Amino acid sequence: MPDSMLPALIDTHCHLDAGEFDADRDEVVERTVASGVTRIIVPAVTADNFAAVNEICARYPLCRPALGLHPIYAQQHQQDDLSRLRAAVAETHPVAIGEIGLDLFVTDVDVTRQTYFFAEQLKIARDFDLPVLLHTRHANDEIMKQLRRFDIRRGIAHAFNGSMQQAERFIQQGFKLGFGGAFTYTRASNLRRLAAQLPLEAIVLETDAPDMSPVWAHRQRNSPEYLAQIAAELAALRGVDVATIAQVTGNNVRAIFGERI
Ligand code: ZN
Repeated sequence: MPDSMLPALIDTHCHLDAGEFDADRDEVVERTVASGVTRIIVPAVTADNFAAVNEICARYPLCRPALGLHPIYAQQHQQDDLSRLRAAVAETHPVAIGEIGLDLFVTDVDVTRQTYFFAEQLKIARDFDLPVLLHTRHANDEIMKQLRRFDIRRGIAHAFNGSMQQAERFIQQGFKLGFGGAFTYTRASNLRRLAAQLPLEAIVLETDAPDMSPVWAHRQRNSPEYLAQIAAELAALRGVDVATIAQVTGNNVRAIFGERI
């Protein structure tokens, strides 16, 4: 395919600030751009990495920051981190609040504490009229309860893995569902069914790099340069061409983020 024909792809979730990229981040970004990726959303996970995320996004023009406190680190988050988040959002204008949510798979992070930080950050998203990037592991119903409580109607359920009914509730709430490397494993039958059957208008692409590697990079570092191959896998699964995948998922991203992206 000649360069001018490359699809414009958007990685809606990539931890490009992670230490795994310190040795070769420039080269990774170069290869990612060459593969047709035009945007990468880089979500923060703790208040201490807001600055790193903003620096990455200043350095690489295709990157856009999201700021938030990840549920996995709820034991570390302090009350003051919420004020730091509010101040950073007001000063640096991220495209979303994220990565936030609940993780009911991990057993060593207090659920009440996770829920507190999640709810407080939904208030920040509401106050600044920003979409949210959600971590939803084993917590789709609990998350939906909080979204309804604060009337949050825009965002992405990242690495979605739930039932078709839970997917439909997110869609009705105004959300898109993020799909990445996990569905490229043939044994991931639930994810593959969702990826094949959900309306394409509900799907956005992501890598979650350096985690959640696709099947061809199993046990290796995941990278945003694999997004084009993930798009091709989704196209094959749905029996459409990759240009359609790129165009529709791109429109879906713009529907969530508007002019910010
Ligand atoms: Zn993440």
